[in-house]
Amino acid sequence: MLLRLELTGFKSFADKTSLDFAPGITAIVGPNGSGKSNVVDAIRWLMGEQSIRSLRGGEMVDVIFHGSPRRKSLGMAEVSLVLDNRRRWLAIEADEVQLTRRIYRDGNGEYLINGQPARLKDFRDLFMGSGAGAKGYTIIAQGRVEELLQANPQQRRELFDEAAGISRFKIRKYEALRKLSEVESNLTRSQDRLHSLE
Ligand code: ATP
Repeated sequence: MLLRLELTGFKSFADKTSLDFAPGITAIVGPNGSGKSNVVDAIRWLMGEQSIRSLRGGEMVDVIFHGSPRRKSLGMAEVSLVLDNRRRWLAIEADEVQLTRRIYRDGNGEYLINGQPARLKDFRDLFMGSGAGAKGYTIIAQGRVEELLQANPQQRRELFDEAAGISRFKIRKYEALRKLSEVESNLTRSQDRLHSLE
């Protein structure tokens, strides 16, 4: 599913770094503080994570390389993820989907899907119900396993709904029901007015 991850100026990755994911299991090993978790943070950030706390920073621009004794800070962080979409698990007519997120020092940023400008919402919609996503279970952070084991039946159900791809339909159903009740109350109001005119 994951084909390649490219990091430029993201956290400790000042230089452009490319990670290729071959079929099977990929393990990232390295000493403490060498940037293993930063790789996971990059994927989470790219998938639309807006909570800087879960990315272990103070504010969003903290994901930009802030310099080291030997190197000055950078003005932009960019993360690109190339996904295998031959089985069309993402609703895009392309065998490979490249997602890019950028952030600049002034706080502005960009989202691109296969090189075309997109919005955060597009990224979220793309992953919604696909089983992936910033809030999905694709990334199991330290401590999450315990959290899942201690989850109540309702929380567990939500997880299965997302995994089975049901949650996107549930969200659409709630949206449709909300609109329906809006229309119903408009209708009642119109009928009341009509009666008062008769
Ligand atoms: P551990 O095994 O201890 O969890 P790790 O290999 O997962 O370590 P990370 O937590 O991914 O390591 O990386 C932490 C390193 O990233 C620290 O050295 C920190 O200084 C560096 N770092 C984090 N944010 C930035 C940034 N914006 N600019 C430069 N370096 C950064």
